[in-house]
Amino acid sequence: MTTPKELKRYVRDIPGYPQPGIIFRDITPLLARKELFREVVDLMSRGWSDRQVDLVAAIEARGFIPGAAIAVKLNAGFVPIRKTGKLPWKTIGEAYQLEYGTDQLQVHSDAVEAGQKVLIVDDVLATGGTAAAAVRLIRQLGGEVVGVQVLIELEDLGGRKRLSDVDVVSELVY
Ligand code: AMP
Repeated sequence: MTTPKELKRYVRDIPGYPQPGIIFRDITPLLARKELFREVVDLMSRGWSDRQVDLVAAIEARGFIPGAAIAVKLNAGFVPIRKTGKLPWKTIGEAYQLEYGTDQLQVHSDAVEAGQKVLIVDDVLATGGTAAAAVRLIRQLGGEVVGVQVLIELEDLGGRKRLSDVDVVSELVY
């Protein structure tokens, strides 16, 4: 079992990307190492195996990477939550503020059946605006959000506070 401290050695910190003042947490070195990628997926799935998750809804684009693997591990389906204009069918949307800029997230309007239990997955929780928009989307469709699972939490940005009515789990805290 690799400790969080060791896992952090494979998260590349890139100051000034994509704009000044941001330290981008690049998980590609972690993903490229097969044992570590597997371990990250195991860690991110661990808390949810008894929660009867029907669907993992992951956020474009880096959320898709652990999200799809977690869905397989939890024997759940997968729902993509995407940026505006990327989904081909009927959608609903929610605007949100990013750590850098504003944007809108969309999901197919038939992606979730009423009452289905949905786990939301992303790579990084920063201000929480993105995850909060994802929660609103799933609830609009009648889904029950069982929680938000991220790999990395940037604690000082207070994302957890914006998700006060949701179970939020992170593995690596900065
Ligand atoms: P936020 O809405 O502020 O919680 O931002 C979270 C979203 O932006 C996630 O989808 C992340 O992929 C991305 N993000 C925000 N800040 C960072 C960062 N410092 N490093 C990597 N990704 C980030």
